[in-house]
Amino acid sequence: MEKNPPYVILAEERAPEGIENCQLCELAGQRTRVVWGEGSPDAPIMMILDNPGAREDREGNAFLCGTRETLQLGMREAGIDTSDVFVSYLLKCRPLRAYNKPEARAACLPHLQMQILQKRPLVLFGFGNVVSEALFPELEDASVKALRGSWLSYQDTPIGFTYHPLAVRRRPNLLKYFIEDLNGLNEKRKALAGE
Ligand code: SF4
Repeated sequence: MEKNPPYVILAEERAPEGIENCQLCELAGQRTRVVWGEGSPDAPIMMILDNPGAREDREGNAFLCGTRETLQLGMREAGIDTSDVFVSYLLKCRPLRAYNKPEARAACLPHLQMQILQKRPLVLFGFGNVVSEALFPELEDASVKALRGSWLSYQDTPIGFTYHPLAVRRRPNLLKYFIEDLNGLNEKRKALAGE
């Protein structure tokens, strides 16, 4: 890691009252806490990851991890300011063991849909096949490989996809595509904002 890394620790947004103890799926019995999201509350870009990791689940304190570092590296290369971003999750609880994925995704999706309705971001951006396939189950091929580089619509909001930051860490040859996709996101944001 660089001596003075240009990484930013984003402020966490607490789950709304009544959802912080959500019991709508079996992950309620596996998680420590519900993790709602982090970043600028009114950001023009809402990014969607699959689910919180171990440290989000445990700590409740803002921190940097491999996912955040790679995400911010790509954002920096693409000229996306961290203040323009709110990061949320498809599932708001960390799975510890095997679970019924279709049931958990169906149970948690209304939380994400409510966030989109309340925050009204200009553009949505999902990371990894879990997110793309959960949001577009009707598509024959909703993998990132098939969808990256194009724009779909979700709740009347443009949405694009790229690889999960951890996949990029594991396979550095994906980094150039990751940056390319984030560049496309920034261009989309600018166009939607009339810049
Ligand atoms: S994953 Fe979502 S639906 Fe399931 S308990 Fe957590 S917040 Fe509720």
